[in-house]
Amino acid sequence: MTDLIAERIANIRQQLPTQVRLIAISKQVSVEAMREAYAAGVRDFGESRIQEAEGKIAQLRDLPDLTWHLIGHLQSNKAKKALEKFQWIHSCDSLELALRLNRIATELSLSPKVCLQVKILPDPSKYGWSVPQLLGDLAELEQCQALQIRGLMTILPLGLSPEESFEVFERTRELADKIRQQNWSHLQMQELSMGMSSDYPLAVQAGATMIRVGRTIFGERTA
Ligand SMILES: *Cc1c(COP(=O)(O)O)cnc(C)c1O
Repeated sequence: MTDLIAERIANIRQQLPTQVRLIAISKQVSVEAMREAYAAGVRDFGESRIQEAEGKIAQLRDLPDLTWHLIGHLQSNKAKKALEKFQWIHSCDSLELALRLNRIATELSLSPKVCLQVKILPDPSKYGWSVPQLLGDLAELEQCQALQIRGLMTILPLGLSPEESFEVFERTRELADKIRQQNWSHLQMQELSMGMSSDYPLAVQAGATMIRVGRTIFGERTA
């Protein structure tokens, strides 16, 4: 049993180009299982809820070289806590949130790495910018100088075929390319956070630089 997590991680890594960063999504996962993932080489953990993450960050404080990634929707009243706990925020999903994060990061002298969460297809069940909204907000995002905006994050709508999934990932990459070609001086677009257990091979094929994998590493979540 103990080696199962290590085996799964090795199996995923085998399929990844070396530059793709594997983020182990540890929501609802025990710190014991996370330590096994650490022993197998994982240094990046992703959590969707601040409160759950806070406890784990404290319990894993003896592991000095971890990077924590926030992947879930952030309520504005938790922005300060998020900035204090996470080095990466993948789920920056509105201009309002970006401005708030920028203001608080400035006050705290922090410079978090940020991805902008975008919805390529309409999906009322998810947060994030639509493509036209995002393109319209870039000038204001460029002014968020405390944020190291590094790229885009996307979550696919449910129920897409593999072909449709691949197309959405490709369109995400093309959007990042388009923004990069606008030559903003502060906004960067080299990262693409996309791909989960069910679709990460397609995301990697389309150019993902960070994949967010939970169940394929840790097994089905029980809750
Ligand atoms: C839960 C979650 C993941 C991981 O999903 P798995 O299916 O367990 O791989 C990735 N990204 C986000 C935003 C999530 O909420």
